[in-house]
Amino acid sequence: MADWLTPEQRRRVMQAIKSKDTAPEMAVRRLVHRLGYRYRLHRKGLPGRPDLVFGGRKKIIFVHGCFWHAHTCRYGRAPTSREEYWLPKLERNKERDAENQAKLNKLGWSVMVVWECEIKDTAALIDRVTFFLDGLSDKKTKLE
Ligand SMILES: [Zn+2]
Repeated sequence: MADWLTPEQRRRVMQAIKSKDTAPEMAVRRLVHRLGYRYRLHRKGLPGRPDLVFGGRKKIIFVHGCFWHAHTCRYGRAPTSREEYWLPKLERNKERDAENQAKLNKLGWSVMVVWECEIKDTAALIDRVTFFLDGLSDKKTKLE
């Protein structure tokens, strides 16, 4: 695909996409809230400033935009123009995500990533979120 925009126009387009990344995060926040879970946002002092922090449960949810975090889905493909610019940049984001997750795990946090492309399937998302936050072991404890 040829890039018909000037570098400056392309930069602005990409910035617009980036700021829209908050829309998936809002959707996940609303859903989690409706399910009755309470969380804190972007807690400082934690690696990667996680999007949703469930302090009591020691659990964290990141909401990742497919493009910026280089998801392996069709939305996560790097632009074919100016590859030399995009590939290292997106690769760095990916590495940073992995590092942050490893650090959080070391600190005793469990981490779940919700990808932008997964949000449309609300039923599946509810299943994943409740399983992650409440897990089977918790339910078992409640039954005993
Ligand atoms: Zn995706």
